Order: sequence, then C-alpha cells, then structure tokens
Amino acid sequence: MFLTTRDGVVMVDAPPTIGHNLLRAVADVTQANGRPSAITHLVYSHSHADHIGASSLLGSDVVRIGQRENRRLLVRDDDPHRPPPDITFGDSYVLSVGGERLDLAFHGPNHTPDNIFIYAPDYQTLMVVDVIFPGWVPFKNLAISQDIPGWIGAQDVAMSYPRQTLAGGHLGRLGTRADGELQIAYMTDLLASARATIASLDPTPFFQQYGNNGWAIFQAYFNAAAVQAADPVVAKYLGQLAAVDVFTYDNATIMFESLRVDYGDLGPFGDHP
Ligand SMILES: [Zn+2]
Repeated sequence: MFLTTRDGVVMVDAPPTIGHNLLRAVADVTQANGRPSAITHLVYSHSHADHIGASSLLGSDVVRIGQRENRRLLVRDDDPHRPPPDITFGDSYVLSVGGERLDLAFHGPNHTPDNIFIYAPDYQTLMVVDVIFPGWVPFKNLAISQDIPGWIGAQDVAMSYPRQTLAGGHLGRLGTRADGELQIAYMTDLLASARATIASLDPTPFFQQYGNNGWAIFQAYFNAAAVQAADPVVAKYLGQLAAVDVFTYDNATIMFESLRVDYGDLGPFGDHP
C-alpha cells in the first residue's frame, strides 16, 4: 500500500515478490495525479521478509517506521535487505506527511510480536497483514501466527475500525467487511469444532496401539483429532473460502496446540487423578 502526498510518497511494506514493480506503480500513480514520486517514508507492518524484504531497494534516505519490537527483531535478524526502523513507537503513532495522515497502532502481539494496524482515516482503508485473508482461509498453520489468542482477537480489532477497504497483504485482492466476517465465522467454527473434538475423541485406542510410547500416542491422537475437527468445517466452507480443503487440517492442528497451551484445555491428556 502507498499514499501519495504533496511532499512525497509514504509506502507501507515492500514485498520482495513485487520488487521494482513498487517503483513502477508509484511512478504510474504520481504521474497521473501530479504529486512527487520520491518515496520519503516506509512503514513496516511487521518484520517478516516476505513483506519488507525489498526495503533496501528504497535506499538509505527513506525514513523507516515500525513498532518498538519490530526494531528489536530486525536488529537481531541483521538482514541487509531489511534495515531496522529509524522511528519506533509503543502503542500508537500518527504519521503526517504532506497533508496526508496514517494512524499506526499496536494492539498487542498477534501474527508476530510486532504486527501493527495501519489506518488511513481519510480513505477508510485499513492495512493489517497476515490476519484476514480475503477470499481464502488463513495460510497453513494459521499463517504461522505466534500468539493464537492475540491473532484471533486481531480479527475483531480489524473489524472495529470504521473501514471499508482492507489490505491484507496477500492474494492479490482487497478485502471487504464481509471478508472479515466470513473468516471470523470460519475461525469460530474451527475453534468450536476443536473443543468438541477434544471433549469427545476417545484416546483409548491410541494407548492400546502405542503402549508406553507417549509421543506416538500424542501424535496419533492429534492427527485423528485434526481430521475430526476439520471435516465439518471443510464441508461447510467449501466453495466459500479458497484452500479450505488444503489448510484446515493444519489450521486445526495449531488450534489444538493453542487450546492446550493458551486456553488450558488439555483434553484427555489433562486429567491428574
Ligand atoms: Zn508474516
């Protein structure tokens, strides 16, 4: 996403898969609207290389902005393609450039510990990356999100903005409010199905099959649980959400892990008589 202003362009993220086409897109838009084409600011949504790995293309004069944790992660990663941000913030930051405005907000860890919400109030447009996937289910393993309760809550935070347009960071189209509502329904169903599965799936056959090999029992049980939890969700959303049949089994597996470690729902492995 980028915003043209009287004083230059504010870019949000620089995906390496787009690379130099970022500069061509800026040139096209600024030629059409008569605003300067120099990119003066680059906002980082989060530290992942698939979103900001072309940052170095913008040179050393651009002012980079990210959440405080974003800077820590990028200093650690020490990747020449992803220079750490020059300006950092904790909870919120208003970026005003050339008569235009972006509201940056950190609402706690979700997909990553540094993932932020970038809102353009004048355009009712929100960018938040790797949280809502318009038209698709979340990528394998709930988009490798690091804080699952935080990530589930981030969907609701995204809906709480009075926005009409969502830039989700993947899959080539913008999102509507209906896209967010559909994904929340999918995740609500997946969580409920996982809870019902862990409450009802009998572990006895797995103990009988694997004896005292605790890890094998655990693995076989949760593989079976993922299938049982995912099947009805796949059936319900097939034709509504792309890749529902591809990723829901892995998404269910991560949901079980989170149920255990975040929600304290240990299922048949939680009893200590
Ligand atoms: Zn990411």
